[in-house]
Amino acid sequence: MFASSIRLASLPKGPSMARSFSYTSPARVAEVKSLGVIGAGQMGLGIALVAAQRAQVPVTLVDSSQASLDKGLKFADKLLEKDVAKQRITREAADAARGLLTPTIKIDDLSSVDFVIEAVPEIPDLKTKIFSSLAQIAPKHAILATNTSSISITKIAAATSTDPTDLQASSRVISTHFMNPVPIQKGVEIIRGLQTSQETMDTAIAFVERMGKVASVSADSPGFLANRILMPYLNEAVICLETGVGGREDIDNIMKTGTNVPMGPLVLADFIGLDTCLAIMNVLHQETGDSKYRPAGLLRRMVDAGWLGRKSGKGFYDY
Ligand code: NAD
Repeated sequence: MFASSIRLASLPKGPSMARSFSYTSPARVAEVKSLGVIGAGQMGLGIALVAAQRAQVPVTLVDSSQASLDKGLKFADKLLEKDVAKQRITREAADAARGLLTPTIKIDDLSSVDFVIEAVPEIPDLKTKIFSSLAQIAPKHAILATNTSSISITKIAAATSTDPTDLQASSRVISTHFMNPVPIQKGVEIIRGLQTSQETMDTAIAFVERMGKVASVSADSPGFLANRILMPYLNEAVICLETGVGGREDIDNIMKTGTNVPMGPLVLADFIGLDTCLAIMNVLHQETGDSKYRPAGLLRRMVDAGWLGRKSGKGFYDY
């Protein structure tokens, strides 16, 4: 935290800051020749595809569900076809990127990758179990990154060993928190845990920059930067709906036409996934103990009903 604050203090001011500055010192950057992605949902699939297209590395895409893998790859084909049709990329480039994606349901297939990014649902026990397995399966030099939206990186890193003084694997754990949709949004939050080494940090930043992304460093604090700011805003929109301060369209329209955001908060919550929004609010609430982060009752009820937004066909809107 102190290191990044000191660096930030010396940054040039103004809008060109992100592009003109790199956090890394090249001497510390390890070479990444292959990637593993765990979870082929909306985030994992996007990360795998952009890594294949921009960083041009082979990607082993793991999901516990064959149906999710099939659905994800079908979606990748659709995105690539769209890019070709709009002449954003050539047919050869699309075929080359698609050829770099290897789907599998076996996590053991990550035994020779240089970098892993985990993007399974936001369930703490699920993530810690996966990192405990990764410490055994992945090579001893591999960077082990999580795409968590809110769970402590220090906690996830601690799951790699039962001995807290053993930093062999935990020093290689970091968060690369991509924004949704990954092919479009440039921002990636980089969060280090207490155990994370400087080389892990530098390598992760260099790799996301290779993917064409812009890194912002956040401390390992509940919600990090993006969701600490975004989620209370979305939650407040749900409270406004629930308590009758405004109707669905009024809430979305005033924010769209009044603050120049491309989507209103309820449409955005549907797009992110209401289960993901609730999970993040729960972490903010539990970790800080501050009642201002209490999830809206309506958000809980909608998740209870299975109305998760766009991905389930029903949320604040119907899809
Ligand atoms: P998702 O539900 O779309 O996808 C999760 C995928 O993980 C599914 O395909 C599921 O089959 C798979 N999975 C479940 N258990 C698994 C296991 N044990 N091994 C392998 N695969 C498994 O979720 P998502 O929206 O892609 O979110 C993934 C992560 O990214 C979460 O941590 C979330 O908080 C974070 N995130 C989400 C967003 C967003 O807007 N949705 C944005 C940034 C970060």
